[in-house]
Amino acid sequence: MEKEFENDINYLDQHFLIDKSIINAFIDASKLSINENVVEIGPGKGEISDTIARRVNHLTCIEIDRNLEPFINVLKDRFDNVDVIYGNALNVFIPDCDKIISALPYSITEPFIEKLLRCNFKEAILIVGKKFADNVVEKKMNKLALLTNSFFVVEKIMDIAPDAFDPEPRVMSSMIRLTPIKREDMSHSFKKFIFREMFFYRDRKLKNNLMESLIEFVKLHGKKLTKKESKGIIEGYNLPKEMLNKRMENLSNEEYEILYNALK
Ligand code: SAM
Repeated sequence: MEKEFENDINYLDQHFLIDKSIINAFIDASKLSINENVVEIGPGKGEISDTIARRVNHLTCIEIDRNLEPFINVLKDRFDNVDVIYGNALNVFIPDCDKIISALPYSITEPFIEKLLRCNFKEAILIVGKKFADNVVEKKMNKLALLTNSFFVVEKIMDIAPDAFDPEPRVMSSMIRLTPIKREDMSHSFKKFIFREMFFYRDRKLKNNLMESLIEFVKLHGKKLTKKESKGIIEGYNLPKEMLNKRMENLSNEEYEILYNALK
């Protein structure tokens, strides 16, 4: 069953980049250097991988579709600094690296961003749906935008029209850069820090999650906040009781916005 699913072309979203100027822009934006280790997720037919392999110390490709093996084998024969992991990028371990480069199906943007939170890398250069990119860059209050902005500095590099791909996707795309923000550098970003902490424990009830996150923020400043004091601060936010008893992962986009606006 899973095999069938993995071979479903719609699910794999195999829109291969064919516009050379966009391929070059993708490579330029990645600012590759010869001492870097890079992970490319979804190399496809290796259009970009070839250039990456020439310019870096090591390239690890993660590809779900075994049908693309003949293309990837050409790459492996040509370069001795390339290795391949066949599997779903959402499930396999993404090795520590300098850069992650990817144009994954837009339908898995959210779980992929969540996966990136737990990976160790310096920059990710991604092609994503334009709608997602705009939401994040404009710092909209929905879950995915808040999540992304709490962990990464996000820069939009360019928009990409459907005709840059074959077959053409139905929507516009964007190239973006994500640079992870270090937890210890967030002492002046109260709201971002609180959201970031809470995303890590999203199975906790909001009231407990918020209480612990406030304590952690104060700890970041070398001070101590008791559970009682933290609960007092939360009462001052006047959040609906029903919302406080929900797990963070079950909050709606509207509730994310209420929470964001209440935090002070
Ligand atoms: N990088 C190539 C390019 O730009 O031409 C291909 C991009 S294509 C939009 C997406 C690629 O990601 C395909 O090779 C597809 O098989 C692969 N892919 C899709 N879902 C994946 C997943 N969950 N894990 C790993 N690879 C995946």
